[in-house]
Amino acid sequence: MYSIRRRLAVILIVCTVTAVVLSTLFVNLAIDSTFNKYVADNQQKRNERIVDYFTQIYMKDKKWTESSGKEMQHEGYMSDYCLTLLDSDKKEVWAMDPMEIKNMNSTYFNNGKSGGQYSTNTLPVKYDNKIVGYVVIGQFQPLLLSEADINFKSSINRYISVSVLFTIIFCVLVSILFSKQFSKPIKAVSETSVELSKGNYDSKSEVKSNVEEINNLINSINILGERLKHQDTLRKRLVSDISHEVRTPLNVLQNNLEAMIDGIFPTTSERLSNLNDEVIRFGKLLSNLNSLKEIEEQKAELNIEPIHLEELVSNVFQDFLVNSKNENIDLQINYNKKENYLIYGDGDKLRQVFINILSNAFKFSIPGGKILVKISSDKDYVSVIVKDNGIGIKKEDLPFIFERLYRGDKSRNEIEGSGIGLTIVKQILILHAAVIEVESEEGTGSCFKIKFNKA
Ligand code: ADP
Repeated sequence: MYSIRRRLAVILIVCTVTAVVLSTLFVNLAIDSTFNKYVADNQQKRNERIVDYFTQIYMKDKKWTESSGKEMQHEGYMSDYCLTLLDSDKKEVWAMDPMEIKNMNSTYFNNGKSGGQYSTNTLPVKYDNKIVGYVVIGQFQPLLLSEADINFKSSINRYISVSVLFTIIFCVLVSILFSKQFSKPIKAVSETSVELSKGNYDSKSEVKSNVEEINNLINSINILGERLKHQDTLRKRLVSDISHEVRTPLNVLQNNLEAMIDGIFPTTSERLSNLNDEVIRFGKLLSNLNSLKEIEEQKAELNIEPIHLEELVSNVFQDFLVNSKNENIDLQINYNKKENYLIYGDGDKLRQVFINILSNAFKFSIPGGKILVKISSDKDYVSVIVKDNGIGIKKEDLPFIFERLYRGDKSRNEIEGSGIGLTIVKQILILHAAVIEVESEEGTGSCFKIKFNKA
């Protein structure tokens, strides 16, 4: 198995080396063919010049002699070509020896730069539109390159090779650097996910990337880690809460029943009634858990009907007036009788929502406190606000109060509850496409706001 960095670096290096080698090959071929064409053109011009020269000689002498144009031999030796002059019957007037050219340039030929097959080119010399003779130009290579030409070609090749070398070194370095930069965040995310899979929910990727997709991946894995950590805490808390909730009433029952059996406590109807309350509380917890389970599994069917929300909330409000009196808490309701608060929903379930929220408001208020229920509406929404000036919710508890079995510290230690009420509220509201928001400050009070779509 290769690391992503190694894979990336190898791919980049292979691609760039291939691209550089291919383009070098093409450039080389292009330069070669252009250069050869240029040399071939020059050779063609040279041949024309030689024929012209011999035409001039013939024009002057009107015949060929042993010395006709012999001065051209010097140029032939210098430029590695061999001349032979033939008359109109192709009889030799004079000729250069090709071997002499070869011997004169032996070092040059021995270097393997030349010394190919000897080839000739016979060109007619014309005078008055008549062929008066032939010049045979012979050479040991199809294209004659001068030393300067060869130097020019090899220096170009040298420059190309050096630039190829530098390009490859540069590309290899950039590939290594780039693949490191690219793979670093991916490697970090992969390490984090491995840690998460091992159950180390505290691990986090701190790296940053300027690639959008990788950045999203880093953020998602970090959020996933936080969620898993939170879920894990909740799970642990749930187990301890359930066992605590179940153990307490069972202990009370067991201790009291044992005391009665042993005759320590007399079996009075008051004692039995207290024990019965404990059993009822226990039963309530189980039925709460059950109804939450049904709502969460979406087994609970909604009986949707038009609901005048102010009527439903007023009914619940009436039921709490007794508590208001008993607990000395000022309970008020506020809405506009002419306003339309019609929504669609399940009346029983929505009653449950307001009962849970109002009973919390009472539970977490202190005698002499105040609870206000306010209904309002606008074009699209009907809102219900339940505001109290009770103990409020700690900042760190606030994000979790809708979680199953979550209870604020105070509630866990001093105030009776099961931590299921708000979870049920939230689930019912989700089924109604309604939103619940809470604002609260410890020691000041809490404000729950529910927003329904208007019918
Ligand atoms: P509980 O049975 O504990 O009331 P809930 O799910 O109804 O469970 O509420 C969860 C937690 O939210 C409570 O334990 C409490 O800490 C906090 N809470 C809810 N309503 C209020 C309120 N009106 N004032 C202060 N705290 C509240």
